[in-house]
Amino acid sequence: MTNAPIDRSAQDIIIVGGGMVGGVLAHALRREGWRVTILEGAARGTSSSFDHRLTALSDASWRYFDALDLIDETTARSAQAIEEVRVVDAGHFGMTRITRANNEGVALGQVIANRAIGAAIERAEMEYAEHATTPNAIGTVQRLQPARYISHHTLATGKVEVHFDFHGESHALSARLLVAADGAESSVRSASQKSVETVHYGQTAIVCTAKPAKAHHGTAFECFTRGGPLAILPAPAGRVSLVWVNRDKEVAQLMTLDNPAYAVRLDALFRHRLGGFSELTPRHAYPLNLITLTELVGDRLVILGNAAHALHPVAGQGFNLCLRDVRDLVAVLRSDRGEAVDPGDAQRLCRYADERADDYRRTIGLTDRLVRGFSLDIPGAGMLRGALLSLTDGMAPIKNRLVRLTRGI
Ligand SMILES: Cc1cc2nc3c(=O)[nH]c(=O)nc-3n(C[C@H](O)[C@H](O)[C@H](O)COP(=O)(O)OP(=O)(O)OC[C@H]3O[C@@H](n4cnc5c(N)ncnc54)[C@H](O)[C@@H]3O)c2cc1C
Repeated sequence: MTNAPIDRSAQDIIIVGGGMVGGVLAHALRREGWRVTILEGAARGTSSSFDHRLTALSDASWRYFDALDLIDETTARSAQAIEEVRVVDAGHFGMTRITRANNEGVALGQVIANRAIGAAIERAEMEYAEHATTPNAIGTVQRLQPARYISHHTLATGKVEVHFDFHGESHALSARLLVAADGAESSVRSASQKSVETVHYGQTAIVCTAKPAKAHHGTAFECFTRGGPLAILPAPAGRVSLVWVNRDKEVAQLMTLDNPAYAVRLDALFRHRLGGFSELTPRHAYPLNLITLTELVGDRLVILGNAAHALHPVAGQGFNLCLRDVRDLVAVLRSDRGEAVDPGDAQRLCRYADERADDYRRTIGLTDRLVRGFSLDIPGAGMLRGALLSLTDGMAPIKNRLVRLTRGI
């Protein structure tokens, strides 16, 4: 097989990592006229970003996808609307409930397979490639895959040079800005010596999908159990995505259970609300840590997505926060008066970092508090959680905050 030659014409932006975040960012930047190269380390169809997981997108994220023309008929058919969210505690009464009515009659969000997001990005890239030679095409996206980042350094010419391995050979490309979208274990972040803070929760998420006996009616459940939260997300074709967070030490045993035994455990915890589960898919385990970074930008460098913040999935905020990184970076690089913009301009990058700080503080803080509060395993904690859930349901200001979090605004 011959490899496509590398387009070495002047590039504005190089993105390391072509997963969920890098893929959407490249598409959004291309639409604004930027010439973008993606370096994706995994071979086509094997990126861990587009694995068997499903993602709950907030209403705001779904609308952003729409604004980027990423929702065609195929994508819309692959998504399940979230009509209602119920937060419950496994062993105690009390519930907080958010419905469409709390969101001006609009669905609270959509649940979609990561692979369907990958397919939507791929279709957008292919569609662009078909029209790339038309006179009106301005921005470009070149995806090099498998292309693994090795190192980078800034040049005196106002550029950054990136070294990478492409099909077993070393190459270099330069651009005016480097974006690290290479996930929680970011090599670009390490090479840039940006220090991160890591909190080990001692919890692991076990993920699979199943068919519930009763119809889910678009309801998403967040059920707090002794080991950690169990999220039951409504999925297309009447299925549900099951994300059960447990203490690390209990995970190995849960992974060895056969499907019927595992389904019985979940059904009992969930108090038979959906009448039981069948047709379980294989389970996959994800150890959970909180990774945060304080310095989001550097010399001609931006670090975003999971490379800047890896969150516990408890409130389904990770990718939604990443999409707001994408939206804000694209906006900061936009020219107001049609003048030429240097995408690596230090002032613009600092503005981006300043604008993101508040959202990071709120979203990361709230997610972390939820994990800690609902993992408390002391006498009376369950009763307290049940009472708090009832209280939240009845108190408009607290509930409104929860609604805003769910909607992603
Ligand atoms: C169990 C679980 C459930 C979740 N559910 C939700 C949810 O419901 N809602 C939500 O909003 N979020 C959810 N998230 C979070 C969400 O999955 C992440 O925020 C999202 O995947 C981050 O995307 P990313 O592109 O930044 O990183 P990644 O998905 O990690 O992608 C990084 C990409 O970079 C590539 N790469 C890595 N190193 C290199 C290198 N050296 N050179 C080149 N390429 C490289 C990788 O191959 C990969 O393609 C969940 C997370 C987990 C673990």
